Amino acid sequence: MKTADVPGVPGPFVEQLHEAGIEELYPPQAAAVEAGVTDGTSLVASIPTASGKTLVAQLAMLSAVQRGGKALYIVPLRALAAEKKAEFEAFEAFGVSVGVSTGNYESEGGWLADRDVIVATSEKVDSLVRNGASWIDDLTCVVADEVHLIDDRNRGPTLEVTLAKLRQLNPGLQVVALSATVGNAEDVAEWLDAELVDDDWRPIDLRKGVHYGQALHFDDGTTREVPVRGGEKQTAALVRDVVDEGGSSLVFVNSRRNAEASARRLADVVEPFLDPETTAELADLADDIRDVSDADTSDDLADVVARGAAFHHAGLAREHRSLVEDAFRDRKLKVVSATPTLAAGVNTPSRRVVVRDWRRYDGTGMSPLSVLEVHQMMGRAGRPGRDPYGEAVLLANSHEDLEDLQDRYVHAEPEDVRSKLAAEPAMRTHVLATIASGFARTRSELLSFLERTLYATQSTEEGRLERVADSVVDYLVQNGFVERDGDTLTATNVGHTVSTLYLDPMSAATIIDGLRSAGDRTATASADADGYAATEGEAGFQTYSIDDEDAGEDEAADSRVEKPTALGLYQLVSRTPDMYELYLKAGDRETYTEVFYERETELLGAPPSEYEEHRFEDWLSALKTARLLEDWADEVDEARITERYDVGPGDLRGKVETAEWLLGAAERISGELDLPGAVTVGVREAKKRVEDGVREELLELVSVRGVGRKRARRLYGAGIESPDDLRTVPKSVVLAALEGRRKTAENVLENVGREDPSMEGVEPDPDAAPAATFERAGGETDDADESQTSLGDF
Ligand code: ADP
Repeated sequence: MKTADVPGVPGPFVEQLHEAGIEELYPPQAAAVEAGVTDGTSLVASIPTASGKTLVAQLAMLSAVQRGGKALYIVPLRALAAEKKAEFEAFEAFGVSVGVSTGNYESEGGWLADRDVIVATSEKVDSLVRNGASWIDDLTCVVADEVHLIDDRNRGPTLEVTLAKLRQLNPGLQVVALSATVGNAEDVAEWLDAELVDDDWRPIDLRKGVHYGQALHFDDGTTREVPVRGGEKQTAALVRDVVDEGGSSLVFVNSRRNAEASARRLADVVEPFLDPETTAELADLADDIRDVSDADTSDDLADVVARGAAFHHAGLAREHRSLVEDAFRDRKLKVVSATPTLAAGVNTPSRRVVVRDWRRYDGTGMSPLSVLEVHQMMGRAGRPGRDPYGEAVLLANSHEDLEDLQDRYVHAEPEDVRSKLAAEPAMRTHVLATIASGFARTRSELLSFLERTLYATQSTEEGRLERVADSVVDYLVQNGFVERDGDTLTATNVGHTVSTLYLDPMSAATIIDGLRSAGDRTATASADADGYAATEGEAGFQTYSIDDEDAGEDEAADSRVEKPTALGLYQLVSRTPDMYELYLKAGDRETYTEVFYERETELLGAPPSEYEEHRFEDWLSALKTARLLEDWADEVDEARITERYDVGPGDLRGKVETAEWLLGAAERISGELDLPGAVTVGVREAKKRVEDGVREELLELVSVRGVGRKRARRLYGAGIESPDDLRTVPKSVVLAALEGRRKTAENVLENVGREDPSMEGVEPDPDAAPAATFERAGGETDDADESQTSLGDF
């Protein structure tokens, strides 16, 4: 079918496609059009990676808009939202407006209503529905990208429930679900009352295989010799082999750290093959990459890029990612080592794909990737029009491995998509949301809503859905989130807050209990305020004088009340099911039992006794997690933290982000509980400190863009304590504090709005250089020479 013959899409879009060289639909795309995707018919398209799913979505959305409707494109990852928006912005040339929903509801509820096409993650859409965004009712077409992720334990239920809600809200809604090839696409189609295009057609042949010994063994029984030299790794040999014949490779690994290490090694492999022209272009690209941010990652990436290799993972800045992706597509970069984020949605084909790691750390141990995930990575092999075919390979060390990998991935069919809604936290969260947002006002309405989920379609056990729903409602009632009056169900105020905050109700219950206990202690202490002030610190609580900005109206300005410590709050949020705690390793039990008794008075909520083994262990794990967060907020060096707790930088980042979010939620909840002001103040401070990884005195400085925890400490050491100081102190002092880095100093001054930020002719003040080390409470020192890191740098 010719693109020009597709009914119902705007003419200028067809012209844009022509300009991009797309005149003929791929067969699965033609099948989608024949099934009615441009007439408002719902469709499930289960087709391989790189077979043109995006165009199917575009045709559906544009024809919906052409008919006067409004379309929503749901992406699985925040990183992809911006990419999709950029892709769809070409629609604006013919008057179709595009918006992306990333910020909070309040700031964008209005303007998104005017957009024809909106891009958002499923979490975002769920929250918009919970908050009652008005434009949701106007949607006529919803596209769900990577719908097979409904099978994902963590994120799947939200996508599933969101689709069910949107369909209930807009009964005539067209749903276009794009999926990788899965085992049971027909189940998904049945659930969504949709037509099905299930096709394994690909625009370019794909040969899947396993490398073992000196050769590649392909699925069709053929082999290709790829010798491994002495001392060389298999991956290096495979990359060298392809670059030697002018092609590029994509190597998938299982962690950010591995991606970076692999890129460094592979740079050695490809560098000798670069011609002088490419080398010059790469040098420019490396400069651009260095300019994106002053983080270590920027330098590390630039170093490998200059040598023809790159790494790619979700920890990179968006500018980094797009620079890498473009250069790889332009064939300047010869190899990219990536975590699987790249397989999800970014269009970066290469002649050869090496799936180096097919196991991943899942929190307890290494577990194999699903066939579906591996096939998605493999699907990135082969650039249509450029390569004769694509090759995707796994690596075997033994003959046994070879056979195992062939069975496990090469010849295997992808798994079925199964609903994960029945998992307890998902059920608790979504049942509360369904009640709080008024979707269900009675038990029967709740049940009939749940009937609309994939879970209901797939569950065969009679009465199971009802039982699960009833026990979850009981839990919500017991914890004060929902009130039950006969058949009627209503969310309480706190229940509403918990739902809009996106918390697992069990996390909320833990936090409420902890904050109340903090409030109780405060109350006792403030009753005896004067006497207590004298025993400052004795109970492990810092006393806190409420000053004007934080004082509750009813509290006298001079009353002294306790503020929960950061550690106490970190341990509290670490105990919730929304935080993955650190595991206790050998010896940790003793260490943290000791810490537990030393700092017991800081901990919030009723502590378990050592004999309640399970609970005690849980408190110790949470305490270990809390100590990590406390170290971070005490400016302990990142490298030292990762070593001390035996975690990766990504884990640290994950914990910090989760703590930030949970403390933000705790702050909101504490507002509802009518607790003494000091509790809220404590929560707010603990949150800010963990957010920036600094002690209290640096909070103002780190609010300046370009100033991370280390730079802030250096500036502080040079006597610069606030943004205002940055605007007024002699520039020579700023330059000295920033170790003579002119460009950095200029950027910082510009960001803080200093009138003349130029450093031309300025020399660092030799007397102003900060002390090279920062003494901490524990007597440790940090090497001030280590370059700047901030949270965005992992
Ligand atoms: P998927 O989402 O299925 O992984 P994409 O939608 O990203 O795949 O498409 C992969 C590539 O194929 C894109 O570069 C796209 O421009 C191109 N493409 C899509 N449809 C066609 C077509 N009919 N003819 C030629 N190229 C196409």
